[in-house]
Amino acid sequence: IRVAVPRETQTGERRVALVPSVIKQLDKLGVEILMESGAGKESGFNDDAYEGVRIVESADELYKDADVTLKVQPPTVEEAGKLKQGSIVMGFMAPHEGDTRIKTFTKNKVTSFSMELVPRITRAQSIDALSSQASIVGYKSVLLAANMMPKLFPMLTTAAGTIRPSTVVVIGAGVAGLQAIATAKRLGAVVEAYDVRSATKEQVESLGGKFIKTGVSAEGEGGYARELTDEEKQQQADVLADHIAKADAVITTAAIPGKPAPKLIDTATVERMKRGAVIIDLAAETGGNCEVTKAGKEVDHNGVIVYGPKNTASALCQHASEMYSRNLYNFLALIIKDGELALDWDDQVQTDSCLTHDGEIKHGPTRERLE
Ligand code: NAD
Repeated sequence: IRVAVPRETQTGERRVALVPSVIKQLDKLGVEILMESGAGKESGFNDDAYEGVRIVESADELYKDADVTLKVQPPTVEEAGKLKQGSIVMGFMAPHEGDTRIKTFTKNKVTSFSMELVPRITRAQSIDALSSQASIVGYKSVLLAANMMPKLFPMLTTAAGTIRPSTVVVIGAGVAGLQAIATAKRLGAVVEAYDVRSATKEQVESLGGKFIKTGVSAEGEGGYARELTDEEKQQQADVLADHIAKADAVITTAAIPGKPAPKLIDTATVERMKRGAVIIDLAAETGGNCEVTKAGKEVDHNGVIVYGPKNTASALCQHASEMYSRNLYNFLALIIKDGELALDWDDQVQTDSCLTHDGEIKHGPTRERLE
């Protein structure tokens, strides 16, 4: 089995699907590893750090030989067209978009595994790339806020007087949100947080955050949130607005899988905030949690800075790649036994995360959308 790692081609993507420290483990699976020259460079790994890996000069040459291709970003349509008939591709596949890419997979009978679809079950935790990347993003969001604010996070008692700590409000206490809470606490801020899933209250409190009570709970399936009714949304918005208006920094991470991000902060609330306050909207790429957000832009709205960073994990590419590469390895270990492919359609991890196989779309919602 030849496992191949191309260079990521999406603008701004600095991560790589394989880091040198994972090579030894991969070797034990009995595979041959190929990598496009320079694939690890942006993440800080030169070709010569990839000991035992066959370095090929061009992507065309790489795809031609690959039985399993490891990606970070979804393949472009052109890249999808280069995948060998009947081969496997693994990575983030953005199953909710990219219809031409998905049709190219089925046309060429490519088996695609989408890291977004890995089930959130205990056994699959080591494969859960959404979680590994989200923790990185949550951490970074707080640093971004701290950098953009005209205030300090911690309380300082100095000869020049006492500085009061900043208040950070985190909305959405999933993987990214919890990491944001922990990071803001470490920097000395007073942290308040909110999530529609009531189970998060305890997690927020265990990190030293204060849970904001809105009286709305929306536990959905599989540990995710469900969409709220209009009445629930209003009640939630009113309570949250009062907390947001007083905050120095707001980090929003609220998401509903496969749907646009819920709008939780309207323009009027931004206008109630203090000058110099910052909103970091981590949901910018799926439409944003704040009405003012423009993905990838820093918007100054009456002195309040609203920033919706794009591909934040890529900014911390070295550790993001390390974690992602381990996620992929753990997935490969499920499907490769003694150097041979051993797909198992009785394994929930493999069936749930399979987007296409043998000319068919396997992911229900994607099949319904495309047929
Ligand atoms: P996500 O990125 O899909 O969403 C982020 C957060 O936004 C979630 O906590 C969600 O409840 C919240 N949210 C959605 N709508 C909201 C609204 N209107 N207002 C406020 N908050 C809102 O979620 P995620 O971080 O990927 O994971 C969600 C949860 O899944 C985790 O916290 C965990 O409980 C579970 N999970 C389980 C496993 C596992 O068991 N293997 C792994 C990872 C995550």
